[in-house]
Amino acid sequence: MSKYWSKIVQNIEPYTPGEQPRDKRYIKLNTNENPYPPSPRVMAAIKNAADETLRLYPDPTCRELRSVVGRYYNVHEDQVFVGNGSDELLAFAFQAFFNPGKPILFPDISYSFYPVYAQLYNIHHELVPLEDDFSIPVEMFFKDNGGVIFPNPNAPTAKAISEQAVASILKHNMDRVVIVDEAYIDFGGESVVKLIKEFPNLLVIQTLSKSRSLAGLRIGLAFGHADLIEGLNRIKNSFNSYTVDRLALAGAAAAVEDDVYFRETTSKIIKTRDHVAGQMRELGFTVTDSKANFIFVSHPEYYAGTLYQQLRSRGILVRYFNRPRIDNFLRVSIGTDQEMNLFVKAVKEILSGV
Ligand SMILES: *Cc1c(COP(=O)(O)O)cnc(C)c1O
Repeated sequence: MSKYWSKIVQNIEPYTPGEQPRDKRYIKLNTNENPYPPSPRVMAAIKNAADETLRLYPDPTCRELRSVVGRYYNVHEDQVFVGNGSDELLAFAFQAFFNPGKPILFPDISYSFYPVYAQLYNIHHELVPLEDDFSIPVEMFFKDNGGVIFPNPNAPTAKAISEQAVASILKHNMDRVVIVDEAYIDFGGESVVKLIKEFPNLLVIQTLSKSRSLAGLRIGLAFGHADLIEGLNRIKNSFNSYTVDRLALAGAAAAVEDDVYFRETTSKIIKTRDHVAGQMRELGFTVTDSKANFIFVSHPEYYAGTLYQQLRSRGILVRYFNRPRIDNFLRVSIGTDQEMNLFVKAVKEILSGV
């Protein structure tokens, strides 16, 4: 605490990112990074962009990348917004579409950045409790509110809701914005990007960090009616017009264009995930039905906090949230087959007391 801090800084409880340890080499299954490298075309595009033009500001409108993205997702480039990671887009969206007063709604178990942005921007919120099995109770989002946000698939539960369920939430909230955070959508969920043509209140947010293996490049995408995109632009241009740099613009376009590589790596991760989920169930774990690049697991007899520590001391990092309702669960990112074999082997040894 410092007397020089503003009231906001004194009171804010910031988000805690997953550990990026330096003390030794871990098998890192704690931050949902992709175990495969980005497409080789990404590295080539970035090298190619690293030239004397770096003295010039990047295109503040990200026009070329928006046009590549628009073509890929079959939407107009005016319906696309590009940001410096999707966390930045979420921050812009909270400012652009939510007001102090009527509370916005999001699930009680959800991405832990939402309450931080709500506090930062003085937006009241109300938590919608998930069912006991962590399903999203869709009808609970039908009541009067100041806006809605949820991840689909949800994090850290990994469970997804259908396009139809999202559409019903949209229909009951036509007077306010519904933000669907599709950070993990490419691992088996049903994207609602196509619904932006039907629902002027829908903002879909995606990221290149997970399925396109570019957490280090920081690119997020938002899709919505041109009026919503204009709202985001008004916030961005009141903050920093050049949020996305030249190298990131070049790399991101190459990533979106290499669809073959994208499909290959995501399907490998899905296959590994389903295999590991089966192995964990055989070991007595409860495993939620995952549509993400991680699994959410709990053992009836073995406390998750202890398991987290024991895995850590064996050089395997997973994510443990010491929070109500999920303090006996571990979130395990899906790595390569080799990494996951070592993970399952370590869990087996820990459970049998070796
Ligand atoms: C990882 C994640 C993000 C943020 O992704 P970045 O684009 O890397 O900022 C947003 N929402 C959820 C639910 C995530 O898990």
